[in-house]
Amino acid sequence: MILRARAIVTMDGPPIANGAVAIEGNRIIAVGPLAEVAAAGGPVLDLGEVVLLPGLINAHCHLDYSMMRNAISRPKSFTAWVQQINALKRSLDNDDYLAAIRHGFAELRQWGTTSVCNIETFPELMPHLGPSPLRTWWFYEMIDIRHRITSDDVVAGALAFFQHRENSLDHSGLSPHAPYTASVSLYQLANTCGDAFAMPLTTHVAESREEFAMFRDGCGPLYDFMAALQRPMGDCGKDTPFGLLWRRGAIHGRWLLAHMNELTEDDFALLASLPPGGAPSIVHCPGSHRYFEHTPFEFRRLHDLGVNLCTGTDSLASTRSLSLFEELRSLGKTDPWLTAEQLLRTVTVNPARALRRRGQLGQITPGALADLITVPVSGKLATVHEEIVQHELPIAWTMLDGQVLG
Ligand SMILES: [Zn+2]
Repeated sequence: MILRARAIVTMDGPPIANGAVAIEGNRIIAVGPLAEVAAAGGPVLDLGEVVLLPGLINAHCHLDYSMMRNAISRPKSFTAWVQQINALKRSLDNDDYLAAIRHGFAELRQWGTTSVCNIETFPELMPHLGPSPLRTWWFYEMIDIRHRITSDDVVAGALAFFQHRENSLDHSGLSPHAPYTASVSLYQLANTCGDAFAMPLTTHVAESREEFAMFRDGCGPLYDFMAALQRPMGDCGKDTPFGLLWRRGAIHGRWLLAHMNELTEDDFALLASLPPGGAPSIVHCPGSHRYFEHTPFEFRRLHDLGVNLCTGTDSLASTRSLSLFEELRSLGKTDPWLTAEQLLRTVTVNPARALRRRGQLGQITPGALADLITVPVSGKLATVHEEIVQHELPIAWTMLDGQVLG
C-alpha cells in the first residue's frame, strides 16, 4: 500500500512535500516524494490535504484512573492528594477499573496516540483484559511498604502480566512506584528482571517538594505519613530522592524517570558527570505538573545536559485530557524557546529511544512499524510542525501496526 499526503513529517529529516509512504504488512518500506515512492508500482491511497506523521507515544500514563477526571480538587498538599486518591481507589471495583482502562484507550486514540507507557496498579485486571487496542507497555507497579499479594486473583494477575500475549501490540515492563513506597532492594530486583527479560523500567522520582523534604531533610507531611505506615525511615534525612536511588544502584541510565521536578545543584552535577548517553530518560507531564503546582521543571537545563526528554499525560486524576497535543502546547508555554519540532520529538523519537525502539517507533523510516496519523494542514512546509502542535480536533485517520483503524 502507498499512502500519499500533502506533507510528510518523518521526524527523521526535513518534512517532505507531496510525499508518500509505502507499507508492507505492519512495516514502512519506503518514504519520499510521491514520484519516487510510486515508481515501484502499486495502488496509491491519497489522504489529501494533510500531513502524515508518526503516531504519538505517551511516555507516562495511568489508565486505571481514567474515570477520575476532576474527581479530586486541587490538593493542599501532595500527601493529602495521595490520601484522597487512596480513599477513592478503595471505593471502586474491578469493573470500574476495566471501564476506566477502556475509556482511557479511547481517549488516547482520539488524540493520535498509538503507543502508551501505562503504569498498571492492579495486576488482577490483566486476565480480564483482551488484546490492547493501542501499542501498550504494561508497567507492573511494584510497592513494598505493604504486602501486595493479597489474594489468588492477584497471583493469577501477576502471572498473566508476564505471559506471552498473542498480540504484537502488548509488551511488559516494571515500575517500582517511587523511592518512598519501594525499597532499594525492590528496585534492584526490578533491575535483575529487566536485564533477564529485556524489559523497560520506569519509576516516579523527585515529583513533589514533600518527597524531597522526606529524603533530604527527614521531615514533612510525606515523611510523617510514611512513618505512620511503618515504612523503615532510615534512608531519610540523607540524600535527594534522585541522588539516593542513583548512588545506591537502584536506577541506571536505561531507566525512564517520571517527573524529576525537585533537583538540587548536586543532582545536576551528578547528571553532568555521566558519560554521553549515560543519563536516564526523563518524562515530564505538563498538565499534572501545573495541577500540583510543583517547582518549575528545568527542561532547558536538562536538555542542555543531553538528557533524553519525553512528554506524558500522567492520569486523568491530575490532568484534564489525555491529549498529547494539549500537553505539548502547555510545554510550549512554559518553555517558549522550544521549537514545534523539538516539542514533537518529546512524543515521538525521544520516547522511542527511552523504550529502546529507535528506528522502530516514533519516526517514518524504512523498517519502522506503520503507526501513523494525519493532521489537516493548509500552510507552508516551513510551518508544518507548528500546525501539528496547534491542532485541536480529534484525529480523523490513524494507522496502527499497518491497519487503518475504523
Ligand atoms: Zn505517574
